[in-house]
Amino acid sequence: MEKLITFLDKNEIEYHENYDISLLSSIRLGCKINIVIFPKTIKSLTKLLTFLFQNKLVYIVAGNLSNMLFVDTVADCVILTSKMQDEIDARGNLVSVSAGTMLTKLCEFAKKNGLSGMEGLVGIPATVGGAIRNNAGAFGYQISDRLVSMQVFYNGRVCELKKSQIKFDYHYSSLRGIVVLSATFLFENKKEYDIINLYNEYTYIRNSTQPSGLSLGSVYRRVNGKSAGFYIERSGLKGTRVGGLVVASKHSNFFINDKNGNVSDFLRLSSLVENAVLKQFGVALIPEVEKVERDYETFSRPTYTF
Ligand SMILES: Cc1cc2nc3c(=O)[nH]c(=O)nc-3n(C[C@H](O)[C@H](O)[C@H](O)COP(=O)(O)OP(=O)(O)OC[C@H]3O[C@@H](n4cnc5c(N)ncnc54)[C@H](O)[C@@H]3O)c2cc1C
Repeated sequence: MEKLITFLDKNEIEYHENYDISLLSSIRLGCKINIVIFPKTIKSLTKLLTFLFQNKLVYIVAGNLSNMLFVDTVADCVILTSKMQDEIDARGNLVSVSAGTMLTKLCEFAKKNGLSGMEGLVGIPATVGGAIRNNAGAFGYQISDRLVSMQVFYNGRVCELKKSQIKFDYHYSSLRGIVVLSATFLFENKKEYDIINLYNEYTYIRNSTQPSGLSLGSVYRRVNGKSAGFYIERSGLKGTRVGGLVVASKHSNFFINDKNGNVSDFLRLSSLVENAVLKQFGVALIPEVEKVERDYETFSRPTYTF
């Protein structure tokens, strides 16, 4: 670990030891992490990943922590891309961005420049890298629809991946152990007025249907073509509380941390909800939230080949 610290100091890359990662999680939950690293540019991220690979260190790459719950420390370090500079480069309808760029910034850029194709994604609190990994989507839009190619770090080297080399499905991509460094998207032209209207419409629907408190978004995936919220609500669980965590009354697939809860509250509320839905409907809810705990697949052991 000393070697890593020396590397970070020498390359002036921001890091914090024994860092409470809950401070940056969208639900304010998570454990302490040995070393959390904040590269600011694609260049410093690549240099860091090369060092970690060469030294066989175990690491995890995260974005804005809006879908991850760090339960245990399972890696030597965690890299967060959310403080990376936005590197947005547009050539006509092709737009390339760094992995750490917030999706909202990309949507804002598209809106200002008459570029259509991501309107339904507005309001998802993700980085571009995290959104691609999870194939984030809403209102019939998915980030993969607009994706053309990516620059990635895989097995010790930087390479270019075409969209066709990765499988995408509902809230799923086959990216495993592969770090997205930057991505290129192809937009369509549309009248600025129409684009603005769509952004306003989706923002309105999101704000009126989703609670605004600290959360990780939807806790569970759709099952049998129905939202998990359908089963949770009909099991009478709206408003159910464990410690500081509560099943939102506005959207029962959201757990809100409204009273200074902890990871254990989240886990206990999840198992209460899962058991109740199983008992009531015979349906096993599948988590959407990614828990980092024992046996978690880190980036140091890529399982995907192409
Ligand atoms: C209020 C709220 C609303 C939400 N609404 C939606 C919605 O409408 N639709 C939707 O799909 N999701 C939604 N989400 C969930 C979440 O925003 C998405 O899953 C998003 O894709 C996570 O992005 P992130 O940057 O926060 O990634 P993180 O949560 O930090 O990480 C998610 C995954 O991406 C990986 N990852 C992160 N960066 C990289 C990278 N550079 N290279 C490779 N892998 C990487 C991580 O290792 C992890 O596996 C919502 C969440 C909240 C809190």
